[in-house]
Amino acid sequence: MAYPLSASRLQTYQRCPQSYYYRYERGIKQPGYFGAANLGTALHQALAKIYWDWHYQEPLPPLDWVHHCWQQSISNLSPAQVAEGKSILDTYYHQFIAAQPTLRKPVAVEGKLQGRLEIQNLEFGITGRYDRLDWFEDGLELIDYKSGRDKQIPESTLLDVQIGLYYLALEQRYAQSLKQLSLLCLRSGEKICFVATPVHRERVLQMIQDLAMQLRTDHQWHPAPGQHCDPCSYRRYCPAIQEHPEPLPESRTGFCRATQPIQLVLF
Ligand code: SF4
Repeated sequence: MAYPLSASRLQTYQRCPQSYYYRYERGIKQPGYFGAANLGTALHQALAKIYWDWHYQEPLPPLDWVHHCWQQSISNLSPAQVAEGKSILDTYYHQFIAAQPTLRKPVAVEGKLQGRLEIQNLEFGITGRYDRLDWFEDGLELIDYKSGRDKQIPESTLLDVQIGLYYLALEQRYAQSLKQLSLLCLRSGEKICFVATPVHRERVLQMIQDLAMQLRTDHQWHPAPGQHCDPCSYRRYCPAIQEHPEPLPESRTGFCRATQPIQLVLF
């Protein structure tokens, strides 16, 4: 049975093993997030077509090509969203396509990564998803499109974990090192770059090692109080915060991890 593990899971574990236990081992839900994802999904689809379906027999596609790809991606959008998305892609075209001498074909778009990892006799299956993967100097560049109104830059701790996990997965799949993770903010036309190094890889390996030990051995998920307790959804159950914590709801998971091979899935 696969044991799913993501960058946000590892970040949660790093902050507070007990909140990790509540969320992922006991399956106690947190309040969800709401938002109109349709425009973002359509923009991601259009960008994948722009890069993957272009014939590359000319140095640059015209703006009409971008509009053509957008028209194929708008079936679930309102007229206002269609107009907004077209404007966003126009900005993107002028900033990131027309400004270059040629458009280079990516290694992959909207791709999945898969790999394997063995740590302390535990087998981890690694998979990942990304928006675009480009060649970059003597390695690879991961591109993540951000379509929200703000920059949506993940916290630095989460970014570090993401970079480390992708470093591991890409090295297995392509025998190439990840050199850079880049966030492309579609509304503002900004590109924000983060250098990837082997240090990211080593830190994530250490985190996975720690978590694997936890899963296999002591099952003690100690609370680690701090500033992150303020927005924590599990305060009512937490003995570090409450003098008389509420009992935990019925467990939603019945998988005995101590006796099963563990696989890691990166989203
Ligand atoms: S309240 Fe703080 S210590 Fe308790 S589970 Fe949440 S993050 Fe951990």
